[in-house]
Amino acid sequence: MKADVVDAVGEPFVIQEIDIAEPIGREVLVDVKASGLCHSDEHYRANDFGMPMPMVFGHEIAGVIAAVGPDVSEFKVGDHVVACLVPSCGHCPSCLDGRRHQCSNPTAVQRGVDEPPRLSRNGEPLN
Ligand SMILES: [Zn+2]
Ligand SMILES: [Zn+2]
Repeated sequence: MKADVVDAVGEPFVIQEIDIAEPIGREVLVDVKASGLCHSDEHYRANDFGMPMPMVFGHEIAGVIAAVGPDVSEFKVGDHVVACLVPSCGHCPSCLDGRRHQCSNPTAVQRGVDEPPRLSRNGEPLN
């Protein structure tokens, strides 16, 4: 798969090949048809906010579900979706009230340290 990767703060956006793991748990794999690259991306590319690099950019996407993890019940392969990367659990009071940006458990969507990375390049994890 191709992705827009920045290797270090201040370096350019570079479209390159990366690897994407199969979905596990409640994850879905989206075949991205379009992605925005907004000023937030430029802020994180150009300024050190403590985000771990290298990183894949383009956090607003539209696409089609290509695969689902074993615990997914709300989506199926072929569903058309739009998404924005705001880590949120989907189950806490804030999430259920439509305030996902105030999620009380945003790390619930991260993979565990004993699980393979979602994104990698030449065997090295990407954020
Ligand atoms: Zn944005
Ligand atoms: Zn939540």
